[in-house]
Amino acid sequence: MKAKTLCDIPGKVFKEDPEAVKSLVRDAQFICRKCFRSANRKKHLCKAEKLLDA
Ligand SMILES: [Zn+2]
Repeated sequence: MKAKTLCDIPGKVFKEDPEAVKSLVRDAQFICRKCFRSANRKKHLCKAEKLLDA
């Protein structure tokens, strides 16, 4: 996957390669305040914010 962050991934990628996207959002720990996408790594989001206070 070439996109830098999940936020940069166009919607069609979610259809073309859902497994790759799923691996990034599985057990999501962060949410993007700008795009409202979630990911398990902060670096995958442009405005990451931790979902849970752990
Ligand atoms: Zn974002």
